[in-house]
Amino acid sequence: MPKLAERNSAIPAGFESFFKGAPPGCIRLTVGEPDFPTPREVVEAAKQDLDAGDTHYVATGGKEVLVRAIQEKLKRENHLDYTLDEITVTVGAKEALVDASLALLNPGDEVLIPAPYWPSYDPICVYAGARAVPFGLEPNHYHPDLEAMKSAVTKRTKAILINSPNNPTGAAYGRLELKAMVDLAVDRDLYLISDEIYEHMIYGGRSHFAVASFPGAFERTVTINGFSKAFAMTGWRFGYTAAPKELAVPMRRIHMHAVTHPASFAHRAASVALTQCAGSVRTMVEEYDRRRKFLAKELNAVPGWRLPEPEGAFYAFPDVRKTGLSSAQVYDKLLAAGVQVIPGHLFPRGEGYLRISYATSMKDLQTASERIKKTFAPA
Ligand code: PLP
Repeated sequence: MPKLAERNSAIPAGFESFFKGAPPGCIRLTVGEPDFPTPREVVEAAKQDLDAGDTHYVATGGKEVLVRAIQEKLKRENHLDYTLDEITVTVGAKEALVDASLALLNPGDEVLIPAPYWPSYDPICVYAGARAVPFGLEPNHYHPDLEAMKSAVTKRTKAILINSPNNPTGAAYGRLELKAMVDLAVDRDLYLISDEIYEHMIYGGRSHFAVASFPGAFERTVTINGFSKAFAMTGWRFGYTAAPKELAVPMRRIHMHAVTHPASFAHRAASVALTQCAGSVRTMVEEYDRRRKFLAKELNAVPGWRLPEPEGAFYAFPDVRKTGLSSAQVYDKLLAAGVQVIPGHLFPRGEGYLRISYATSMKDLQTASERIKKTFAPA
């Protein structure tokens, strides 16, 4: 047999390989997907279009009704002006990230990413022969260490990948730190890849700032977003990229040859999410906020645990180093107590932490928190 591609050895297994055998009755705080149904109007629109026989190829960039809705959303919410050609509807934000990686990166290029980060960024860079280069966070609040970012730039650095609000840390970056990242990209002539999929999940009066809207950023930024998180549409597999034409054209070609487009009968439904579902998003975000406050109070009371205030997304990322145990050991203890979390070592530079998703019911969070406190109660 011929040899498989060498890059396979640099592609980690997903979380699934780790999560075997959660005992019955175990509360799973692992999944990064909303525990709400997709808004009714969205489902109805897809049913109607499916019944109407909308089951054939459409434009590869996406149906006009959806691309226009994205264009208007980007203008209305993010103050960004893209032409219709500069927007491509993708199979989730994941495909958008792969398109950006393949279009922007050459073998040997490096992509700076504040770490810990979402583990799929590593393979997404590897597909292009490039490499993700983690740089540090400020330990007290999980925001990028800007000095560490500057020192991590090398001759091979091609891009900075920003994910705010952040998975797994729950940090939402402020205007000044985003500006500092953009300024560095301008100064060192780097691309910016901005994964804004958690943009609507932001709390405590904070605002989301679109990276491409900063001075000097637009021409070098690929904006990535999607429907999975804000609209509880993980299974629909709808996302998008927006970027200036020079970047959008090669990304569109990769998309066209790889996937053509996501399911035709769901394009108008996705546009309904953008135009009619602000109320549903608000309701979900209010509920996440309630859970976030509950967890911040509870987890900071666990001996050896410290949780900086979660600011966005739906993850708490407690620092458990003072327990004297590794992330995997804490994971094992919690699993035995009937709570499953993601141990930090599954995220680059995440050893000593845990990721806890609060995209789960308040009732389960209450039970989980009781179990956690009991497990770590002083003997
Ligand atoms: N980006 C981040 C940071 C995520 O956490 C996820 C999903 O967990 C994605 C992108 C992928 O989203 P999608 O379902 O749109 O592919």
